Amino acid sequence: MEGVMGPTQLKDAYRRVYDRIQAAADKSGRRASDIKMVAVTKYASPDQIRALVEMGHAELGESKIQQLAQRVAMLDEFLARKKTLAGAAPRSSVDDLPEKVRWHMVGHLQRNKVKQTIPLVGLIHSVDSLRLAEEIHNYAARLDTVVDILIQVNPSSEPTKSGVAGPAVVHLADQIDTMMHLRLRGLMTMGPNTDNPEDARQVFARTADIFAELQKEKVGGADCNILSMGMSDDMEIAIEEGANVLRIGRALFGEQAK
Ligand SMILES: *Cc1c(COP(=O)(O)O)cnc(C)c1O
Repeated sequence: MEGVMGPTQLKDAYRRVYDRIQAAADKSGRRASDIKMVAVTKYASPDQIRALVEMGHAELGESKIQQLAQRVAMLDEFLARKKTLAGAAPRSSVDDLPEKVRWHMVGHLQRNKVKQTIPLVGLIHSVDSLRLAEEIHNYAARLDTVVDILIQVNPSSEPTKSGVAGPAVVHLADQIDTMMHLRLRGLMTMGPNTDNPEDARQVFARTADIFAELQKEKVGGADCNILSMGMSDDMEIAIEEGANVLRIGRALFGEQAK
């Protein structure tokens, strides 16, 4: 049975993830600094999340709105408290503390949760229908804001997965491109849930092809530059296939119960 990881183990796990990113980047002739890592906190304890942020990590992800809302509140309070302490003692240990963290919604988003989600996140990875895009757009318009989104792609059209089927992605991207309150930042996909990470390669390669097509057609313009794919078990393959955002949970936080 795995115990809850303490701060030292978290630091080691964090370093190991970055070592893996470096090695995979080297292997494919890419710069590791071009690859960002979103720490998916769905299996993390509040202590682990705070420790990770104290190490300077500022990109966090959640897959469920309820937990997202709790964790945003928890961290806001933590950061505010730290800042107050830092004000009292300028040279304290908070130098690594990010000014702000950015939350990513990586899980399936229901339309009736859009209102609650928008104010909490910097990027929604999981737009998988025109109706969801419209819902986000309408609410963003009311707030007079622009929301950054990715289209979630299901290139192999696996029935058990959400995401837009490969051939429909460019059409949806064109439609989103006309919505003033949405900014299309790129694509997201998930590898198949199998024991062999190599099974993900086709899915990643196909998604990267669609991403290249969007860029060639200039859909979304220069802002459309995010390819979010790769999790704990298949991050190397994702990097080899061109991912520039990874979503990593278990490799950082271990597999303890939710
Ligand atoms: C949980 C989750 C991840 C992280 O998965 P790990 O295998 O724990 O690294 C990434 N993306 C999404 C959408 C998830 O739900």
